[in-house]
Amino acid sequence: MTSAYITTTIPYVNARPHLGFALELVQADVLAAEAAGVGVQEFVDANAAAFTGLAEPLSLSVDDLIRTSSDPRHRAGVERLWQACAASGDLYRKHYEGLYCVGCEQFCTTAELQDGRCRDHGTVPDLVSEQNWFFRLSRYAGQLRSLIDGGSIRVEPAERRNEILALIDGGLADFSVSRSAERARGWGIPVPGDPDQVIYVWWDALGNYLTALDYADDGENLSRWWTGASSRIHLLGKGVLRFHAVYWPAMLLSAGQAIPTDILVHGYLTENGRKISKSSGATVDPYDLTGRYGTDAVRWWLLREVPRGADADFTIDRLVGRANGELANGLGNLVNRVVTMIHRYRDGRVPVTTANAPDAAALDRAIRNAPGLIAGALEDFDFRRATEAVWQIAGEANRYVNRTRPWDLAKAGDRAELDAVLPAILVACQAIGAHLAPFLPDAAARITRQCAPGEAGLLPRPAPLLPRIAWPVLAAAPAQG
Ligand SMILES: [Zn+2]
Repeated sequence: MTSAYITTTIPYVNARPHLGFALELVQADVLAAEAAGVGVQEFVDANAAAFTGLAEPLSLSVDDLIRTSSDPRHRAGVERLWQACAASGDLYRKHYEGLYCVGCEQFCTTAELQDGRCRDHGTVPDLVSEQNWFFRLSRYAGQLRSLIDGGSIRVEPAERRNEILALIDGGLADFSVSRSAERARGWGIPVPGDPDQVIYVWWDALGNYLTALDYADDGENLSRWWTGASSRIHLLGKGVLRFHAVYWPAMLLSAGQAIPTDILVHGYLTENGRKISKSSGATVDPYDLTGRYGTDAVRWWLLREVPRGADADFTIDRLVGRANGELANGLGNLVNRVVTMIHRYRDGRVPVTTANAPDAAALDRAIRNAPGLIAGALEDFDFRRATEAVWQIAGEANRYVNRTRPWDLAKAGDRAELDAVLPAILVACQAIGAHLAPFLPDAAARITRQCAPGEAGLLPRPAPLLPRIAWPVLAAAPAQG
């Protein structure tokens, strides 16, 4: 059995989660739901309730969450990773001097400052001079380059791979992986054997991908989900690419562990053309959006409109437009129509026929092609193309209904033809229910239930599946300034 291990990044929990992080969660969820035997690990930092809580409004299938601050698996695992790299001779002490911003908790270069102050915090950084531990990244430059260039570590999309190759070609310097315990003010994991130093935050954070799998104890989860997995997939935003595509694989090579197979990089979301920030408020709060417009509408927008690996602009208009145009009018209406007709013309019983449905070649093709198209699109990390394949079935089925006009067949008493047409449309709806499951688990379950004959061979009475979002709600949505 092949298995894949899919991770999202650790969100910074300095604000409530916004739609950009919801995008990463939903993408990971689709990849996990689509493949059998997949484990999704969500890595969530301290003060994580708001993030953990997203599982329900977004209908996520979360297997595991790790809080780095409190999980005992974590510290022991980070220590083991450190010791493994030390045993390879890749950790050494070096005197270091630099400008350090306490707010950012990292060193900055003069070029990054504005009038000598941190751009984010407006404060003058401290001049810090101390002995730190360094990781021998330079040793792995050549190996990393060939792994990424040769596709052993697949970085998608290609422009991100090129960005990383250019970075490696520019030269990889060893990097600092610890800071003084005093400067860390008690936070962080002490360096094994050197308690005056704590392990730098990025080392610690990347270590999560292993420590959540009982790496500290060499547990069964490690061999099942990491060492023995056929894919080790990291989903992340472009802002943390260097850490995942350079530092992390180098640490793993040093520690003698398997490296990631796929690094899938998504872009950023803007809202009405503006960067989403802490002050963006309710229009990009996933809780508020799912509460107001429903989980299906929010997931559909994220999967249907965000281009592969690129930035996308979110507006309420686009969300509602997609939901009403495709989910309510396209899908919901289709299922409702066929179930209503089967009740009206056949007392709710699906006709049994040996006759081929007339004129159904295009519809059959859309149904037959969908699984291959979806799998290929997800292999390419292209959620728009994947949902398009499902949408194709709905489009063909709606055209088929309009072409065959079952209501005219019923009126004309053409029983044989009606009995061939109605099942063909129902089969299309059942296919939509099945293929939609990774993308819209809630809507898919409702469609599947609606289209499944019960014990007496009767379809459930037609119920609204994907209601239209009322436009007055739209008018009441807050405008963001
Ligand atoms: Zn700062």
